[in-house]
Amino acid sequence: MPSTTEPPLRVGLARRLGLARRARTSRHRDVQGNGTRAAVLGAGDGLITNVSLVLGVAGASAAGPAVRLAGLAGLLAGAFSMAAGELVSVRAQDELVRREIDVEAEELRSDPEEEQRELAAMYEARGVPPEDAATVARILSVDQAVALDTHARLELGIDPDAVGSAGAAGISSFFSFAIGALLPLLPWYFISGTGAVIASILVGAAAAAALGAAIGAMTGRGMLRTAARQLGAAAIAAGVTYAVGSLIGAHTTG
Ligand SMILES: [Zn+2]
Repeated sequence: MPSTTEPPLRVGLARRLGLARRARTSRHRDVQGNGTRAAVLGAGDGLITNVSLVLGVAGASAAGPAVRLAGLAGLLAGAFSMAAGELVSVRAQDELVRREIDVEAEELRSDPEEEQRELAAMYEARGVPPEDAATVARILSVDQAVALDTHARLELGIDPDAVGSAGAAGISSFFSFAIGALLPLLPWYFISGTGAVIASILVGAAAAAALGAAIGAMTGRGMLRTAARQLGAAAIAAGVTYAVGSLIGAHTTG
């Protein structure tokens, strides 16, 4: 085939098979919304953790310094734990993906013809007629980088572009948890006693509902349902720890 007709044909086939990058990212919001989604979920974790911790301690003794110390410790411990967990898991996944891609690249180097047959077979298995499958496989095998990308996606189910940065994921987890955890703690820096308990509950409830609604908006599941779910989870966690705190507080003072 003349080389001048190759690029448009290649692009056309790739697009029809769903391999074109632009078409893919515009359809799947998760591909681009991953960072935001992780941040919202992290803030939700921080909020539930600290709304329970703050109210648990407040249930035992509504003394400002004790609540502030517990809340700050909870904020830091949780944020570091989230960041460390993210760092470890993203790095492990990254290494796994890299190793699999290296193996595939080696196979493409050592036996390109077998790999092209393999690619054709994968398109056939997806319902592409044998002759067309062979054509697609041949076109996609011309360029080494395109071939590797295609094998990674079809054979390994890996998106080579989605390799994340462990450091960025860790830092973003730290701050999203910290922000969520700070909200129910904030009133205790201005007021104390019953007023602060009520303020913590109100801030915690409003933030839980807002974060729940944001999760709903991102997953397309209905904002009201996810807002109610997040609010319910926060209420149960905070209610239980407040009750336990009150029991312990009554025992130590009475
Ligand atoms: Zn392969």
